[in-house]
Amino acid sequence: MSLDERIQAIDEGERQGILLALALCELQRPGWHYFLGKIAHKLGGVAMYEAFKKYNGPPELDIVWKCHACGEDRPDALIQVYTYDLTPPGLPDGSLKLNLRYCADRPACLEGAQLQARQWSRRFSKADSDTE
Ligand SMILES: [Zn+2]
Repeated sequence: MSLDERIQAIDEGERQGILLALALCELQRPGWHYFLGKIAHKLGGVAMYEAFKKYNGPPELDIVWKCHACGEDRPDALIQVYTYDLTPPGLPDGSLKLNLRYCADRPACLEGAQLQARQWSRRFSKADSDTE
């Protein structure tokens, strides 16, 4: 039996068991959110996966943050911060940092935050060249 055949032989109960195992794993290792979420997506079970995490995890706080990329208010657990060093020449590294919030479960939001950081960086370097 090929790997594809074995994967296709996974029945609904087994699929749900895998989603529960993935959810419990993420509760132990939050840094694996994106990786495990992609597997849940491949299994067609993102909503069930999120529900398993919600019902098996700690009580949720009502903290929400606005994503700098998509503009949506998202729960604290789904927001990450992309930090970009904008320190001008002549100052110690890390003197000026840009922190952009993005949705941890949306790769497009990370790309959006990185794009905004590059735009800020260009503005700063343009400001430098304007004074020269
Ligand atoms: Zn977002």
